[in-house]
Amino acid sequence: MVSTLHSELIATVSQLAEALAPQQQRFLADLIRIRSYTGDEGAAVQRTLQELRAIGCDEVWMDSAGNALGRIGNGRRVILYDAHLDTNEVADASEWPHPPLEPVIEHGAMWGLGASDCKGGVAAIVYGAAILKQLALSGDFTLLVMGATLEEDAEGFALRALVERDGVRPDTVLLAEATDLTLRRGQRGRCEIRVRTTGKAVHASTPHLGENAILKMLPVVAALEAMNADLPTHPIFGKGTQVVSLIEGPHTPNSVPSWCEVTVDRRMMPGETMASVLAGVRAVVEPLGATATIPDQPVRTHTGLRLDGPSFYPGWLLEETHPLLAAGQATGQALWGTPLPVDVWRFSTDGTYSAGAAGIPTLGFGPQEERYVHAADDQVDLAKLTKAAAFYALFPLMFVNGEEGTIERG
Ligand SMILES: [Zn+2]
Repeated sequence: MVSTLHSELIATVSQLAEALAPQQQRFLADLIRIRSYTGDEGAAVQRTLQELRAIGCDEVWMDSAGNALGRIGNGRRVILYDAHLDTNEVADASEWPHPPLEPVIEHGAMWGLGASDCKGGVAAIVYGAAILKQLALSGDFTLLVMGATLEEDAEGFALRALVERDGVRPDTVLLAEATDLTLRRGQRGRCEIRVRTTGKAVHASTPHLGENAILKMLPVVAALEAMNADLPTHPIFGKGTQVVSLIEGPHTPNSVPSWCEVTVDRRMMPGETMASVLAGVRAVVEPLGATATIPDQPVRTHTGLRLDGPSFYPGWLLEETHPLLAAGQATGQALWGTPLPVDVWRFSTDGTYSAGAAGIPTLGFGPQEERYVHAADDQVDLAKLTKAAAFYALFPLMFVNGEEGTIERG
C-alpha cells in the first residue's frame, strides 16, 4: 500500500530525476567518450569517482581491484548497486552510424559504445544515489554504488575481489544491466572445459610407429556432442547446452600429433557446480582415454593486480517469493502504477558471483534494452535513463520498508 506521504515522496523523487537528467546525461556522455576495454578501465573509474564525489557520497574510494565505489548512509542493511564500466571491443567502427566514442543524442536516445552495456546502467545507479542524497532519504540501509571493472571478459571477478579481498559483503545486489525497465531474477551459468587426448609423436612418413592424438579425439568429440541429449534441464531456463568450440594441436604438419585439445563451451542450470560438471564430462571422456579440466581465466586489473581464477560462472535464480523481488516490484508499482514484468537474462552478469557463488540475493533492473547490447546501434533511451534513476533512488526505502516498516526522510 502506498500512503499519502509515500505518494508525495514518490512524486518528488520523479521530479528530481527529471531535474537532474541533464547532469546525468553529461556524465553518461563523458563515460562514452572514455575508451574502457576490459582491464583498461582506469580513466572511466576516475571519472566515476569524480561524479560520486560531486553527488555528495559520504565516502568515495577505489577498491583493491580498481572498482569505483561510493557510499551513502550507515544503516544495517547493505545494498550494492553494480554496473560495469568496461565495454565490449568495437570490431569494425565503419559499421557504426556514429563514431563509437562520440556520444550523440538522436531520437530521444544517447548513442555510443557502452551506452547499453553498461554505462547507461552506471549513470542510472549514480543518479539514483544522487536523488537519494539530495532528498536526504534515509533508513536502516547503507547504499554502495559500484562502477565495476572486468565484466566483459570475466564477469563476477571484480565483485569477488570486493567481497573476498576487501571484505565488503553486501546483503543484496542490484545489477543495472539491460532489462528495459523490467526485472531479471536469474541467468544460466557458463563454463569452459578443456578436453585433451595424448598420443605419440613420430615422423609423419612412419605413422604406424606413432599414436595420433587427433584420431583419438574423434570419438571424444562425438561423445561430447551426444551429451547434449542428457544435460540438466530447468523449467525456466530450458535445456543446458554444450558446444565443442575450439580445437588445437601441435603446429607441425609433418608429424603425427602427440596431443589434441578441444575447448567446450557449456551453458549450465543453477545448482550445477564445478565438481558436478567435471564429473559428468569425465564419465564420458575418460573411458575414451581423454582428460577434462576447467582452465583458469587470466585476469589482470587496470591497477596491475592478477585475479586469475577458474573459467566457471555459475547460474542463479532468485525465488519468486523472495522479499528482494517484492521490493523491486513495490518500487516499480509505486513509481509507475503497474507491475513490472519479471524474466531471466540470456547473457551472463556479475550475478554469477554475487548470487551464483556467494549466495547473495541479486536482482536485475536497468534502463537499457538488450537488443542494443554489443550492437553497432548501441544506445540508451533518455526517458528510460531518468526513470531508472528514480527507481534506484526509491528502491532502498522499499527494501527496508518491506522488512521493517520504516521510511525516514530528513
Ligand atoms: Zn554488461
